[in-house]
Amino acid sequence: MPVADPGVAAALRSIVGDRHVLDGPDDMASYANGFRYGGGRARLVVLPADTAQVAAILRHCHLNGVQVVPQGANTGLVGASVPDATGTQVVLSLRRLTGRFDLDRANRAVTLSAGWDLDRLNERLEANGLWFPVDISASPSVGGMIATNAGGSRVLRYGDVRHNVLGVEAVLPDGTVTADLRGLRKNSAGLDLKQLFIGTGGSFGIVTGAVLNLLPRPRQTATALVVPRDSRTVNDLLTLCEDQAGEFLSAFESITGPALSAALHHRPQLRNPFGGPVPDECILVELMSATGGESGLNLDALLMRVLEQGYDSGVIADAVPGSPADLWGLRHAISEGLRGLGRVIGLDVSLPRGRVTDFRRAAGDWLRGHHPDLLICGFGHRGDGGDHFNLVIPKDRDTDFPPEKVSAIRQALYRLLVEDFGGSYSAEHGIGPVNLSFHQSFADPVQQHFSRLIQRHLDPDGLLGRVRW
Ligand SMILES: Cc1cc2nc3c(=O)[nH]c(=O)nc-3n(C[C@H](O)[C@H](O)[C@H](O)COP(=O)(O)OP(=O)(O)OC[C@H]3O[C@@H](n4cnc5c(N)ncnc54)[C@H](O)[C@@H]3O)c2cc1C
Repeated sequence: MPVADPGVAAALRSIVGDRHVLDGPDDMASYANGFRYGGGRARLVVLPADTAQVAAILRHCHLNGVQVVPQGANTGLVGASVPDATGTQVVLSLRRLTGRFDLDRANRAVTLSAGWDLDRLNERLEANGLWFPVDISASPSVGGMIATNAGGSRVLRYGDVRHNVLGVEAVLPDGTVTADLRGLRKNSAGLDLKQLFIGTGGSFGIVTGAVLNLLPRPRQTATALVVPRDSRTVNDLLTLCEDQAGEFLSAFESITGPALSAALHHRPQLRNPFGGPVPDECILVELMSATGGESGLNLDALLMRVLEQGYDSGVIADAVPGSPADLWGLRHAISEGLRGLGRVIGLDVSLPRGRVTDFRRAAGDWLRGHHPDLLICGFGHRGDGGDHFNLVIPKDRDTDFPPEKVSAIRQALYRLLVEDFGGSYSAEHGIGPVNLSFHQSFADPVQQHFSRLIQRHLDPDGLLGRVRW
């Protein structure tokens, strides 16, 4: 393959300075491998410090035919933040873009650079009694969360990232900067341009800044692990929690027995809340309020009343109250626990809430019939219809599952999901090399047509990002 623009390294060095262009294999290794999937070879890694430098880099690459892959914290799970194997793509890391942090207390919003990560953002907000209510067991960057329209455990209550972005600054593939950082909470004056950059994996532009909606920090949290009488009663349990706890219900996370066992096995220091054998499925129910106990609101008491009603109505078989730290500790240990068992085939799906259990059952039946060796370790954001229907290839069977076989398994399950259950094959991880072909098989043709039109217009040579719609 001919190498576009042999002078690219010198050009990028002149924009960001020598120290911020990496070209040694060791220096570039962590930027070239994805968290779960994808690993390639970068031509260079460039780390700009501000929007003007991002614009100058894109302008140069656009004019000289150089492919660019934007990268935030590199926690994405669809292989879209890392270069392919050709060694021709430049990774543009946004990690140094942290110069701006303007808190507007009156607007309950922050305007910040895209390189801020979730943990540091929430640490900084703590002193002001505020938080950004996206909960993910990783610490992604603001730009990456916007590009993937991240979800997390509290979408049920607060919505996904799309619902919490008030404005975006972005650099288009040719280096043009577009910005609306006014922080308006409503605006009905025509097209909402920021939506172009939310959930589109950097394919239409690089997010360099944003205005985020903030919320008063929770001052009370009550949690329990609840065992539904059987999987058919999970929908009734969700309805009961919403009816009885109203807007205080902030998470409703399903954890199947194999997923819980994997977490406990992987981190023996975690306490098994059930003492002995774990149930087939349990639900982490969380209530949260920004109102303190002095108001008379007592969330622990409210949760107890919800659980009593659940026992009385036959929806709940068992319930174990526990501290938020302990129960979320278990929930957040699952991903690592599954990796400890073997190679993970992650399916990040969403369905209308009432259909999750039926999909799990149908997919489980199909898998037991066709691939009985795969471990089914589902868990996820059941309260918003999300499910990480994850499969694990046991270590001693790894060679029996080459990539084409894994791809055929995904194709069969996504077909079932989309055609029989009306679900989505990417609930919150976005689109990347791992799932692009399924998107092309199953997405609405009109949506695909418009995506291609926009991409062709903004980036006719297809130089930005890993996704060609
Ligand atoms: C343990 C673990 C748990 C997770 N749990 C969840 C979960 O519950 N919910 C959830 O939604 N996600 C979850 N994720 C996935 C991941 O954290 C999100 O996809 C996250 O939003 C990615 O952000 P990032 O900064 O790491 O982006 P990256 O991984 O660096 O990039 C992701 C995509 O965004 C693009 N991109 C990155 N920065 C920019 C930018 N500034 N402008 C334009 N494009 C950009 C990249 O090109 C790529 O397409 C989890 C990941 C891990 C490792």
